[in-house]
Formats: sequence, C-alpha cells, structure tokens
Amino acid sequence: MIKLKGFTSNIVHHDRQQGYNDNPIHTPIYNSVPYGYKSTQDLMDVFQGKASGQSYARQSTPTTDSLQAMITQTEQGIGSLVFATGMGALSAIFLSLLKQGDHLIASRFLFGNSYSLMTTLENFGIEVTLVDATDVNNVIAAKQDNTLMVFVETMANPGTQIVDLAAIGDWCEQQKLVYLVDNTMTSPYLFQPIRIKASLVMNSLSKYFCGHGTVLGGAVTETGLYDWINYPNIFEAYRKGDTSKWALTQIKKKALRDMGGTLSSDGAYQIAVGAETMALRMDRSCANALALAQMLNAHDKIEAVYYPGLPSHPQHEKATNWFKHYGSILSFDLKAGYDCAALLDSIDIIINATHLGDNRTLALPMAGTIFYEMGAENRAIAGISEQMIRCSIGIEDTEDLLEGFKLGLDQL
Ligand SMILES: *Cc1c(COP(=O)(O)O)cnc(C)c1O
Repeated sequence: MIKLKGFTSNIVHHDRQQGYNDNPIHTPIYNSVPYGYKSTQDLMDVFQGKASGQSYARQSTPTTDSLQAMITQTEQGIGSLVFATGMGALSAIFLSLLKQGDHLIASRFLFGNSYSLMTTLENFGIEVTLVDATDVNNVIAAKQDNTLMVFVETMANPGTQIVDLAAIGDWCEQQKLVYLVDNTMTSPYLFQPIRIKASLVMNSLSKYFCGHGTVLGGAVTETGLYDWINYPNIFEAYRKGDTSKWALTQIKKKALRDMGGTLSSDGAYQIAVGAETMALRMDRSCANALALAQMLNAHDKIEAVYYPGLPSHPQHEKATNWFKHYGSILSFDLKAGYDCAALLDSIDIIINATHLGDNRTLALPMAGTIFYEMGAENRAIAGISEQMIRCSIGIEDTEDLLEGFKLGLDQL
C-alpha cells in the first residue's frame, strides 16, 4: 500500500491498491450474486466469519467492499457498510440498534424524510424527543433513563443551522451514549465527525459522493470511538472480538442481510468514480454558494439569507472552526409580496428540482414542495418561512450564476 496524505490522492489511488487480477485502476463491477468455493470447509469458514470472503451479494461484493474501504478512509473510521440509499442506511442503523422502550434524542432540524422516519420509530415503541441541538443544554435536558442514542445532522437543510457538534460529542462520551452524525450536508471533505467524537457517521452517497445526480446510495461508518460493551442491544451472537466493532457487525447482519437494502455493484462503481472529484466539485460549488450568498444578502428584494459563510449567520464561527468550506446549500426568503415561483421560472440557469450536491444548480420553494405536507403552522415552528427558496449550488461558472440571479431579481 502506498501512503498518501491528501483526501483526493487517497481516493483516486484507492482502487488500484485492492489487488485485482490484470491491475485495473478501477475496481471491477462484480455482478455475480453467489460466490462458489472449491472446498466446502472454505465456504463454511466464510459463513462462520472465520475467513473473509464473499457469500451472497445481498451482504457484499468485491465492488461494494472496495467502496466501503474508501469511505472508511475518507471518514478516518474503522469500517463502513453501504446501502441502496441514504434512508436505507439510516433505517438500518435505527432498526438494528434500537428497540421498543428505548429513547432517542434527535435534532429538530432534520432532513424531511428523516423527520418522517422518527414517527415510524415511534410507531414501533421507540421514544423520540426532538430538540434544538444548536445548544447542547437542550440535548442534556432531554435525557431520560432509557436514552441510548443522540442523532444530529452536521448542518441542517434548508435552514443551515449548525448543531453544537463538539459539546454534544463530549457529553455523549461522558454519558456513554451513542452519537450518530449524518454528515451528508458537509461530506468528509468538509468535515469528519470523528473529530467531534461521533460513534457512527452516516452519509447519503447520492449527494456529494456521487455528485452527478445519477445514482442513489448510503453509508454508515463506525469511528471506533464507542465501546459497544456499554450498549445493551447487541445480540449475543455479535458480542465477539473487538468491542469497538460490534455495532457494524450487528447492522450488517440484522439490517443489510436480513432487511436487504443492498447497494448494487453497478451503483457502487458509479459512486466510486464520482467520489474521485468530490473535493474539486465542492471547492467550486462552495465558492459559488459563498459568492451568491454575499450578493443576495445585499439585495433589497431579499428578506433573509441562510448561509453559514455570512458573518451574520448565528453559527458562523462554529462553521469557520469546523468546516473546510461553508457548503453549497443556500436558502433565502424573498420579501413578502414577491412570488417565489416567478423568480425561479425567470432564472434560466436554475433547474426546478429537489436533490442536492448535483453539478447543476437546483432550486425549489420550500412551502410548496418538501414542507407542503407539514402545513403552515408546523412550518412556522420548524423555522420554514412561506417565502423560502432552497438552492443547491452547482459548479457552473460563477459569473453565470451571479448574473442569472441578478437579472431574475431585477425583473420581479
Ligand atoms: C438526502 C439526504 C438523506 C437521504 O439520502 P438518500 O440517499 O436520498 O436516501 C439523508 N440525510 C440528509 C441530510 C440528506 O440530505
């Protein structure tokens, strides 16, 4: 193995170090579902975990293994599992590690579908308390005797609130609670949650990893910081060997194997190719977002801009301390009386679409789309204004973006 320091150097040289026949520099796409062994004993050893190897593609293939190893390296963890989607990864974590009667503390600024997933967990008898996690004291106040886990996102979407990352990590460590951090909005290029003592890190690979909006995927990475001997819900069968790895084994068996939200080798291959340019794409899209945020912030038809790169953002200092860049999600409120849809329709460079982390700039009005189901009253509680537009800024040339937005606003 060659030793390289840089984030991108390690990604682009990862595949060829895996030791495949014929020296490919990309990991081959293995589409075989079963894997055959000459000796029955060898197959039994693989099933019993005494030897490493493939058995059935629902659990892994050499292609998904390779992607997992690359993700583990980008997050500086000790192991990862990949899933068909980010939501697949999150539900795998919750359903394999929590049970009826347990309590989960979650940030109240969650990705919409993760918020919805919390109500499904409640249906299964898991208690969930949603708190404003930008202040660790709210998390501390929510603790109960049956609390097992704290779940936050690094940076919220669409409001860009940044939770009290390090303070929550210190408190979880002291309380021996599992700290699950969704790193999708920042990606390991901007931020590695192991630095704030995360136990498990989740990434939607559909976003910045893949980057091109062409494939779905999700991952969970174990950081190795949590000692699972302290966790009551590990099945007897997985209480073996290194105690810092128990959860990943349980998630693999109980969720990936038994629930089957598997990522295909084709998908894993596309994500691995996309990840090679993650840093380059994010350098560009984050710089674009910052330039646009500054321009919008000074515009008289805009009520408010939500972007951590602006000094007026409530967690600007935290973002500056922890993140390499301020991200490429930028939201803003148009002043009352102006029509969000009219603005978006008048800007050619914007594609009206949900999703984020694409190379193209995508935007949509929040009240009429993602937060429509919630209703106006709950939107107000969640801090989603009726005039809010969310943009996922792409890698277009900065001048085109600035000019597009400026002309659109002038025309309103
Ligand atoms: C998109 C997203 C997810 C879900 O990922 P999918 O791959 O779309 O299932 C989870 N968390 C955050 C923060 C996201 O942005």
